[in-house]
Amino acid sequence: MSTLLTVDDALRQILGPITVLPPESVPTPDALGRVLAEDIVSRYDIPPFLNSSMDGYAVRAADVAGATRDRPARLPVMMDIPAGRSPDRPLNVGEAARIMTGAPLPDGADAVIPVEDTDDRWTPDGAAPLPEAVRVYRSAQPGDFTRAPGEDIRAGQTVLRTGAVLRPQDIGVLVSLGQARVPVVRQPRVAILSTGDELVDIDDELGPGQIRNSNSYMLAGLVASYGGIAIRLGVARDTLDDVRQRFREALDHQPDLIVSSAGVSVGARDVVRIVIDELGRVDLWRVNLRPGKPLAYGQVDGVPFFGLPGNPVSVMVTFELFVRPALLRMAGRNPDAVAMTTALTGEAMRSDGRRSYLRVRLVRQGDDWIAYSTGTQSSGALMSMVLADGLLIVPEGTLDVPPGTRLQVWLLRDLA
Ligand code: AMP
Ligand code: MG
Repeated sequence: MSTLLTVDDALRQILGPITVLPPESVPTPDALGRVLAEDIVSRYDIPPFLNSSMDGYAVRAADVAGATRDRPARLPVMMDIPAGRSPDRPLNVGEAARIMTGAPLPDGADAVIPVEDTDDRWTPDGAAPLPEAVRVYRSAQPGDFTRAPGEDIRAGQTVLRTGAVLRPQDIGVLVSLGQARVPVVRQPRVAILSTGDELVDIDDELGPGQIRNSNSYMLAGLVASYGGIAIRLGVARDTLDDVRQRFREALDHQPDLIVSSAGVSVGARDVVRIVIDELGRVDLWRVNLRPGKPLAYGQVDGVPFFGLPGNPVSVMVTFELFVRPALLRMAGRNPDAVAMTTALTGEAMRSDGRRSYLRVRLVRQGDDWIAYSTGTQSSGALMSMVLADGLLIVPEGTLDVPPGTRLQVWLLRDLA
């Protein structure tokens, strides 16, 4: 069946049946970049106890009221509280205790005086003998230079939500809660196939009419960068038998998604569609899109299948537009999360009435980005993508874009 589709309609149809994969439990230290499958609720207060935020002296604020450099308060030092120890006795009225950052305050103490505001000669190695008494050069309010229990996280608080992509600080917080394992969404397994009699691998000699199979490696990179596991299956030759065998091999890897490149148009040797018709179901879509027509979508033995075009730029654009959202949804992430900005065109540009994604460089000018074409926009010219900061979106029905037109840009790299 052949339908003329808008990009948005195509995307709606693709995402319709896609659901999030089941969770699995992984060790927290291995969970960087993984997607949380459940909310994480703290069972503890963090910090768990009242502690000092400075190296200094624990006091009762009332005992240093009115103290200044000229009129210091002099307090006997009754004990030493290093980090990792608990005080062996309470602090009585009129006493001080030497205390290190992170160490628990003794009962009775309600503030800390930083060592800089005392007469103590601090030595950083911690080996200094405990002075008999300390002069305190400032007053304090109860709570000064201390950290209250639960000040960071309260018991019962939701610290991370389902769908969060775990960052280093998230791993840190999970560890501080004592959570050794974490439930995450299983990573989508994506089988990648290339088709074409002309394709050879990275290190093969190029014969007449041959090119290297760059799509396969580019697709593997795209899959990995959106949280999937790429399974590269090599090249199917343009015969029914070989394509059929490669798709069977793909199914043996129990993929969640199958992506192929090339062989889906109406060329004489475009056998992918014939094979998928046997093994599953496929629609050949004519999407109102440039580059990227045609696109096949369906399922092979129940596994969602994308038959992307062969030209490398079309592969990347259709992946970004259609495969990426499917992958993100399977991975438990928001399929709409795309970094967009707007830019003014820096030169005249042309389109053909389809929605076009032109590869552009962005140059900052005042508060605006100015977009310039990266050069030849042929869908076979991968350098246009290498040089691109983003894809300038020319809406449907537009032929001429004059300089100074404000358009949306889909960012391909962090512009910070
Ligand atoms: P096709 O869809 O088979 O007509 O291919 C369209 C264009 O993409 C042709 O110029 C192919 O040589 C090129 N092409 C197909 N597969 C790949 C690939 N895996 N890597 C790089 N270029 C490819
Ligand atoms: Mg081909």
